[in-house]
Amino acid sequence: METITHNLFAVIIQILCFKFVLFPFNIILTIILAFLSHIFTDVISIITYHTPEIQKDKFWIVWHVIIYVASILSILIFVIPFWLGIVFANIIDIWDWFTLRPIQKIKRKKNPESKWGEKYYFHRIVDATRNKLFYWLPKWNFKKAGILIEIFIIVVLIVIIIFLI
Ligand SMILES: [Zn+2]
Repeated sequence: METITHNLFAVIIQILCFKFVLFPFNIILTIILAFLSHIFTDVISIITYHTPEIQKDKFWIVWHVIIYVASILSILIFVIPFWLGIVFANIIDIWDWFTLRPIQKIKRKKNPESKWGEKYYFHRIVDATRNKLFYWLPKWNFKKAGILIEIFIIVVLIVIIIFLI
C-alpha cells in the first residue's frame, strides 16, 4: 500500500497501545504491531491499484503525484508524536526500497543478472503470507478503479483517528 495508508494504521496502533497498555509494553507492542500492519496492508494491496512497475500513462502519474503528496502530508501531520509507529510501519519499505534496491542497482551495473540481496527482501514475507492465507483475494492491482478501494480505506482510517484523538 501507499505510505499514507501505512502511516494511518501506525497512528491508530500507537494511540491504542499508549491508551491501553502500560510502559514499556506500549512501546514494544507499538513496534511489533506497526511492523505487522505493514505486512497485512501490503498483502491486501492486491485489491488496490498497485502495478509492480512504474507505468507511463497519465492516470498512473497523476494518482502517484496525489498519493505521494498525501503521504508526505501524513508524515508532517503525524510524525510528532507518532514517529515510533510510523517508523516501524514503514521499515519494510525503507529496507527493501531505499536500502537493498539502490545497492542492487549499483551491483546490476556490473552484472545485469545479479540477484544480490533478493533473499533479504522483507516483501518476501508479504508474498508468502498472501500466497498462503490470502490467495483468494481478487487480483485488482492493474485495475485503475482499485484506487477507490485505497481511498475508501484511507477515509475510514482518518475517521477512526478523528474519533480516537
Ligand atoms: Zn511495502
